[in-house]
Amino acid sequence: MHVKSILNRIQIHKGFVYGQVGLHDQVGRLFLEVEIRARKGSRPFCAGCGKPRPGYDTQVQRRFEFVPLWGIAVFFLYAMRRVNCPDCGIKVERVPWAEGKKHLTTTYAWFLAGWAKRLSWLEAARAFHTSWENVFRAVKMAVEWGLAHRDLENVVSIGTDEICWRKKKEKFVTVVYQLDAGRRRLLWIGRDRTAKTFRGFFKWLGPERCQRLKFICSDRVLQRVTS
Ligand SMILES: [Zn+2]
Repeated sequence: MHVKSILNRIQIHKGFVYGQVGLHDQVGRLFLEVEIRARKGSRPFCAGCGKPRPGYDTQVQRRFEFVPLWGIAVFFLYAMRRVNCPDCGIKVERVPWAEGKKHLTTTYAWFLAGWAKRLSWLEAARAFHTSWENVFRAVKMAVEWGLAHRDLENVVSIGTDEICWRKKKEKFVTVVYQLDAGRRRLLWIGRDRTAKTFRGFFKWLGPERCQRLKFICSDRVLQRVTS
C-alpha cells in the first residue's frame, strides 16, 4: 500500500489531491514529503470571507508539518494560490489542512495537544521529534478552540503556574487553570511570567468575570480574592 493510499483513507481534503510522495534523508534523519495539488477546475476559497473566488496567482511552495508516520516526519508541500476577491481584495486562499499562516497542520496540532495532556510539553516535543514551540502552539490552539466552544461563566477558582521551557535563556510561559470542582481545565497561556503577562490574563477574562473570582492558587499557595 502506498502512503498516498493511506492518506486518501484518513485525510481527504475536498478540492485537493495528493501528488508525489518522496522519502528523503537529511543528516541521517528520514522525512516524507507529500505534494498536494488543487483538483483540476476547483476554485480557491478566499481566506478573508471563505467564498470561492477567481484565482489571481500562485505563491512559492510551502511546507506544512503533518503527523509523523513510523517516527518519520511528514510534510505536506503546497503552493498556495491567491484569489482576487471582490470583497477582500487580493488574498491568500484558505486551505482545509492548516489555519492562516500556521505551518503545523490542524490534525498534527490536535495530535500534539492530545499528547501534551499526558506528557510534559518538552517530553511530547522530544517523543515526536518536534520543537517545544510547536507543542506550545498546538496547546494554545486547543485551548483557544475550547474557549470558543465553551462558556467562561462561573469561573470561581483559578490556579497559575510557570513553565520554564528554555533553561539557558530562562524562557517561561504562564499558564492559568480553572480549578473548580468538575471543571478543571487549562484556561489561558501567555508568554513570559511577568506581572504584565498576568495582567493580560485578567484583561482577557474581562472585569465582570474577574469580579466572580474567589480563589487564586499560585505556587501552591491558596489565596482568597479580597479585592
Ligand atoms: Zn473574500
